[in-house]
Amino acid sequence: MAIRNLRYEGDEILSKRAREIEVIDDKIKELAQDMIETMHKWDGVGLAGPQVGVLKRIIVIDLYEEGMQFVLINPVLVKAKGVQEVDEGCLSFPNKFGKVERPKEVVVEALDLDGKKVKLKAKDLLAQALCHEIDHLDGHVFVEIVKPGTLETMKPKQEEE
Ligand SMILES: [Zn+2]
Repeated sequence: MAIRNLRYEGDEILSKRAREIEVIDDKIKELAQDMIETMHKWDGVGLAGPQVGVLKRIIVIDLYEEGMQFVLINPVLVKAKGVQEVDEGCLSFPNKFGKVERPKEVVVEALDLDGKKVKLKAKDLLAQALCHEIDHLDGHVFVEIVKPGTLETMKPKQEEE
């Protein structure tokens, strides 16, 4: 396992559409492990392939609760219901936060790392995280949908000293 370098705001890979994964081989499994490790290092709740420079449709999510860690291959949002206004941030925009509207409940279909079809019914934070990460796979980032006037930029820590 290894920590991968994150891609940040301004990197053009973040605006590209990621490609479907056709074969879940050892390389993809290693990528998934590395993405989980990278997400944990930065205390993120989710990470998408393009954020570590891999233009493939893979996301990882960890809500740091029992049974709430996921690796999803080729995830597709098949249903969305309701609206929630939530605070959001992104590991690729480390100092930015803002309010966005996300569906309150979603259904996502994907493959797991064994290539098995999974159907995930999610609400609240998990629904938000799934939408955020699937957006990354389509080349979209949260600052595009942030509510006007709510985007906050925090100073990086080293500048405060
Ligand atoms: Zn993100």
